[in-house]
Amino acid sequence: MGTEWIGFCLASKRSFFRFPSAQSRWIARWLALTCLAFLLLAILAAPAGAAQAGASPQSSNASSGPAQSAPVATPPASPSAQNTITGYHLSPDKYRQAVAYSRAGYRLYFISFAWGLLILLLTLRWKLGPKFRNWAEGGGGRNGFLQALIYTPLLVIALAILGLPTDIYGHWLELKYQQSIQGWASWLGDWAKGQGLGIVLGVFLVWILYAIIRRSPRRWWFYFWLVSIPIIIFLLFISPLVIDPLFYKFTPLEKTQPQLVAQMERVLNRAGLDIPPSRMFEMNASSKLKSVDAYVTGIGTSKRVVVWDTTISKMTVPETLFVFGHETGHYVLGHIWKGILFTAGLLFVLLLAGYHALYGAVGRWGPDWKIRGVEDLASLPALLLIVSVFMFLASPAINGFSRYQEHQADQYGLEVVHGLVPDESQVAARSFQILGEIDLADPNPSPLIKFWLFSHPPLKERIDFALTYDPWAHGGHGKFVK
Ligand SMILES: [Zn+2]
Repeated sequence: MGTEWIGFCLASKRSFFRFPSAQSRWIARWLALTCLAFLLLAILAAPAGAAQAGASPQSSNASSGPAQSAPVATPPASPSAQNTITGYHLSPDKYRQAVAYSRAGYRLYFISFAWGLLILLLTLRWKLGPKFRNWAEGGGGRNGFLQALIYTPLLVIALAILGLPTDIYGHWLELKYQQSIQGWASWLGDWAKGQGLGIVLGVFLVWILYAIIRRSPRRWWFYFWLVSIPIIIFLLFISPLVIDPLFYKFTPLEKTQPQLVAQMERVLNRAGLDIPPSRMFEMNASSKLKSVDAYVTGIGTSKRVVVWDTTISKMTVPETLFVFGHETGHYVLGHIWKGILFTAGLLFVLLLAGYHALYGAVGRWGPDWKIRGVEDLASLPALLLIVSVFMFLASPAINGFSRYQEHQADQYGLEVVHGLVPDESQVAARSFQILGEIDLADPNPSPLIKFWLFSHPPLKERIDFALTYDPWAHGGHGKFVK
């Protein structure tokens, strides 16, 4: 999930190659504002899933044989465990499904974006903002918090209902391609929870934003940026503690997979990292999903590694260790903090541009839309519209940044399990292959789709890299793990 927050901020992208899960989409969608915060969440938290399949060259160059400790035995055989992986290969049937599913997902992404804009435009034309604002002023008087408390839920719910068609289609797709097994009632429950979260967060953000705008009509974009940074950090902090458990159950890995934790500790020793087992969790993804994933999330004392139970059941121990090694890489390489910095930079530009665009739009169409000014709560849909467009346009930059980090994490994962598993190139390639088969990863995304939508390198590239990466040849060593 972690990653999915991003997706949804961005309008509903995939984290891995998966599309954002339902709940992420809801929450994110409406509060483009919160997106500010979620963006981060996404970037940081998301990077989880490590593997995707890819294929390529000769079997394994890198597997120069066990380095130090004895390799881990290879337990349960996974589907592709027996054959040597040479690239990302799908059976003709899977290939067809993967292409169809991916294309449907890309289409949905662009349609959702356009639909989202249309909804906001209609909201402005129908003057829902002024209507809700009148009620808010009637009920809340001059109290800014009370006004936000009345206004925000009305707007969030109106937008949520208007956005339901694309949300429903998204879940229908996941069911059709067997990425999800979640029934409609449960899905609707998550949808409602997502809206509830959006409302709670939204009330506070709207209250703060408009209080700042009223106090400082010319500098609000800067002050709100300043305030948003601690908010983002706070949301990142509480996300694994408060938000994620609303949708899934998290059990300490130590309890469910003690043998796996013991192997993970060998990886951590190599990484020189001290993540206590109490920070490793298994998520019951199988209650709703079929896909596999893992992620790092949280910050400070809430920081943790989460492995989906689907990953554990579908991958061998060495493969799971590689996935874990990838996650460890996000930890060690400081991707969370770098993500926060990146987001803060992006937000700065977004707010500055949004400030100018909002004044322009309200100056020009304000009278038609019955918006009194930028400081009027009724201007919020216009601001959301501007933020949506900006986020859409910023997608390539956000995803490029994410792909870079994901590639680094892959490299780190290969280095950190080198010597701990029998043949890290093959192990990594297999974990990607398994992921690709289950998650129906696009075997051949177009360069434009990759540029715009991919938060991770395409599986084919990841596999090819795993199969050819061999810094140990001729007595060398890895870049990150010496
Ligand atoms: Zn990652």
